[in-house]
Amino acid sequence: MRISDMTRTRAILERHGFTFKKSFGQNFLTDGNILAKIVETAEIDEKVNVIEIGPGIGALTEFLAEKAAEVMAFEIDDRLLPILSETLGHFDNVRVVNEDILKADLKSRINEFKQPDLPIKVVANLPYYITTPILMHLLESGVAFSEFVVMMQKEVADRISAHPKTKAYGSLSIAVQYFMEAKVAFIVPRTVFVPAPNVDSAILKMTRRAEPLVFVKDEDFFFKVTKAAFAQRRKTLWNNLLALFGKSDEVKEKLTQALKKAGIAATARGEALSIEEFGCLADALLEQGLS
Ligand code: SAM
Repeated sequence: MRISDMTRTRAILERHGFTFKKSFGQNFLTDGNILAKIVETAEIDEKVNVIEIGPGIGALTEFLAEKAAEVMAFEIDDRLLPILSETLGHFDNVRVVNEDILKADLKSRINEFKQPDLPIKVVANLPYYITTPILMHLLESGVAFSEFVVMMQKEVADRISAHPKTKAYGSLSIAVQYFMEAKVAFIVPRTVFVPAPNVDSAILKMTRRAEPLVFVKDEDFFFKVTKAAFAQRRKTLWNNLLALFGKSDEVKEKLTQALKKAGIAATARGEALSIEEFGCLADALLEQGLS
């Protein structure tokens, strides 16, 4: 019987007297079909290493271990360690690391894989309370993960994969899509979790681009500009950028020149700009000496 089977999940939790910690975002999956679909979406085989975030009692880990070269699973809750050694102990390709993923030095961790040169994918049912910090930590880790296939709140998946001129589009869409192509793979009903979360979920598949979507002179500055452009969604680009650089006449003149060079109307709102246009704008602002 699968770990995710409702009868087995309940028996494991009961035997260990486990109580869910809301503060750790603990909603465990109890549907084998969904788990199989996640692993299928991630295209896991013996030529892929996997990093899992939050194995819980091992429901997804079991499916991953059956296909992957190796699975390194980061779990913050040490109460789950004895459970995981019971449920996954028979796999020789699973390693549970009792560490907060946000504190993990992923660049050095990946050298601990037996075959460190294989592509690495991140597959996880994420703790929803830290979805964005986790994605940022992964993107900023300096590790060239080939893919993320992760479950998150549907609303966040929609924001990450959003296109310009939509309500969901914002700095988070740009932060991720700059590096990765993002697509909602499928929606997951709340009924397949224990306990059931009070939001709908989605599996988002993010595949690394061969090159970032745009070439910019200064990546940090580009992200600073995109963040500022959405600081107050109702405001125009002009007002949001003045809030970033200051409201002096000199700044206004430089901003006018930069917008002109980038071919963007001062009255535009951030949500109207494509990622490529943000790239042109950031470079033009830099040329004007704004930083
Ligand atoms: N993978 C399991 C499943 O699908 O049934 C559990 C997923 S549950 C949504 C999230 C898991 O992440 C929990 O096991 C929780 O303890 C763990 N977790 C929460 N915060 C974490 C962090 N900062 N670092 C590592 N694991 C974390």
